[in-house]
Amino acid sequence: MSLRPKIAISSCLLGENIRYNGGHCREDWVFSELSKFVDFVPVCPEFEMGLGVPREEVHLFKVDKDSNEVRLRSKFSKKDLTEEANEVYQKIQERISHEKINGHIFTRKSPTCGTDNVKTITLSDENYVTKSTGLYAQYIMEAMPTLPYIDSGRIKNLELRENFVKKIFSHLRFQELDGSIRELQLFHQMYKYSIMEHNQNNLRLLGAIAANHDKLEAKEVYVKYFNLFMETLDILPTRKNRLNACFHVFGYFKKDLTSHEKDILIKMMEDYKNGISNYLTVNSFLNILTNTHKKTYLQDQYIFGPYPKDLKLLKNIA
Ligand code: SF4
Repeated sequence: MSLRPKIAISSCLLGENIRYNGGHCREDWVFSELSKFVDFVPVCPEFEMGLGVPREEVHLFKVDKDSNEVRLRSKFSKKDLTEEANEVYQKIQERISHEKINGHIFTRKSPTCGTDNVKTITLSDENYVTKSTGLYAQYIMEAMPTLPYIDSGRIKNLELRENFVKKIFSHLRFQELDGSIRELQLFHQMYKYSIMEHNQNNLRLLGAIAANHDKLEAKEVYVKYFNLFMETLDILPTRKNRLNACFHVFGYFKKDLTSHEKDILIKMMEDYKNGISNYLTVNSFLNILTNTHKKTYLQDQYIFGPYPKDLKLLKNIA
């Protein structure tokens, strides 16, 4: 059965007319493409607070310039909604945790759902405006620190989109491990070259955690591994790191290829290095070689398929 991550998502991104003004802000790629490969768990914290649709707009504020505390209130009646909002956030967080979600997509710049850059006024000086995180997004990010998330602005960036999708599928795969050290080691093995694309040093650290030479409890090892694994996937792969991983994979074919074939592959990687061709070309060719030469160890590597290829995400990666 194919993997289907569960993704919590701000309801207005799915086209629900649930915004304060009765409208939506449908995110087309998410709605029409991503929806084929994941199950959504829609949430609208403002609606769940009973504010209705349409409703009075809310905004973020600080009492004065020195205050670190960001609060939420209705824009015109100026009612402080922070406490009741937090109660609702807690209920939503419990619900989505129970659903075992693998990621969250938030609406950008919303005082509730925005992950950053949300306009925040200062009551003591109305000209003093700062930027904060929407209160619901902040709550979820603190309560679920390893959960992959992205906002509706960043998901338009094809590199960030690809990485987010990789993270949600990886999150689900990890969630499905049976809790044994053996399975964790197999997981690590299958992610070896994928992790290498993100950070070579963390690959070593993760390998040491999975090896568990200190004979720690499996539960403790899983927590340590997962924290660092998700942190590592947050580091965007560079061209240099991708190339490095590809050269490691290439090493498996040294005895199988003629010198002419090796030259073609090296030229292909040089073209990628110099920005003449894209990553998909090299990755696909290595994948073909893997299958042609029946390299079973490589066939299992997620560098060749961290998510369904029908999402067509790699073709846009430089
Ligand atoms: S941004 Fe968040 S609170 Fe606002 S309508 Fe969308 S889901 Fe609801």
